[in-house]
Amino acid sequence: MTRQLTHPRDEIMQTMERIYRYRMTTTSGGNLSIRDESGDIWITPARVDKGNLTRNDIINVRSDGTTEGPHPPSSEFPFHQAIYEARPDVQAVVHAHPVALVAFSICRQTPDTRLFHQAHTVCGQTGFAPYALPGSRQLGSNIAERFKAGCDSVILENHGVVVAGESLSHAFQRFEAFEFAGKTIIKGRQLGNIRYLTDEQLEQATSRDVALESFSPRPASAVEKECRRQLCEFIRRGCRQRLLISTEGSFSARLGEDSFLITPTQQDRESLGVSDLVLVQGNQREADRKASRAVFAHQAIYRMHPNVQAIVFAHPVNATAFSVTDSTFDTRTIPESYVFLRDVQRVPYGVQYQTDGSIANFVSDASPAAILENDGVLITGSSVLDAFDRLEVLESTAEAVINARSIGDVSAMPDAVISELRSAFGIV
Ligand SMILES: [Zn+2]
Repeated sequence: MTRQLTHPRDEIMQTMERIYRYRMTTTSGGNLSIRDESGDIWITPARVDKGNLTRNDIINVRSDGTTEGPHPPSSEFPFHQAIYEARPDVQAVVHAHPVALVAFSICRQTPDTRLFHQAHTVCGQTGFAPYALPGSRQLGSNIAERFKAGCDSVILENHGVVVAGESLSHAFQRFEAFEFAGKTIIKGRQLGNIRYLTDEQLEQATSRDVALESFSPRPASAVEKECRRQLCEFIRRGCRQRLLISTEGSFSARLGEDSFLITPTQQDRESLGVSDLVLVQGNQREADRKASRAVFAHQAIYRMHPNVQAIVFAHPVNATAFSVTDSTFDTRTIPESYVFLRDVQRVPYGVQYQTDGSIANFVSDASPAAILENDGVLITGSSVLDAFDRLEVLESTAEAVINARSIGDVSAMPDAVISELRSAFGIV
């Protein structure tokens, strides 16, 4: 693990701000803590507007029980402490009331993370803790018991969720992936039966080969620098608009005939800088960088389709809901959707993990986007902006269709309308 140099106060502040910005908690709900190397616990305060926290509001509870700070620690401090006592490997705890997981909590269910290989790996073992009064010792022991049994992500009955991790960023990623799985199941259930992955399918994703030889690139051209800047900007925008999540997805942009820039693996997508992107040239990648695990899929698409200039694998919740059900995704909803997306293909599970490049057969000028079974979506574009645009259109089309289904019968645009659109927009 890399050495963490940010002060616990600032780490808590940054994570709280992000959870609030992503609408994964209300101002009054939720508390975060970190156990530092000395055993002190740093935790959000009780009764302070989470939207206006300052670093001095974070409370330090020392191992001898004394506290330092202008407020009392969160009223949920007892369960944070109980988790740390139960699990020496845990150094951070996130608790909140995000709407999808609260929906599960009030139905006494736990989302099945076998929905996506990433969620299954990131969330760890999941569990369910019975209700007890907030702030009580009983709640502390109900929760600690689940963590003692090896759980990492636990739904609290009629309350919310608690996740723990070896660092706060790890716990946040778990929290985000768990909520995303919950949201996708809820959306997917409006479309049909949910498809979950078998052990074998989960294994397929983790065992893929991503080894590339390394090389030391020459000084970067202005074109490469511009491309890095643009890609970072769209990745950040994608995270903010919730089209990308911090632990999943990859984005790349072509630089030359057989070279492109791609997101790194295992790095928070929201905080990527220009130097984090990895240059891939032929069968080599920039030294000291780890390219996204989807690098071979990107390479195969660029090699087969010379017009493609940008590629994104993403997990926007509504479009992803189609990926976990057998429901057909029809773009003949409004002219914009059809003109941008044309005929969206469906890719059987696992094709994108194969090293034979067969994923490239599922996209073309006539099908610039595809739904990947249990793995979100794949979009190609003639520029980074074009790919991003399509991703947004795909997600809003999916959301509109899901919403439409709850109010009536969806009527697709008839063939005559489609022909008229094709000739008006020069689609061959
Ligand atoms: Zn709570």
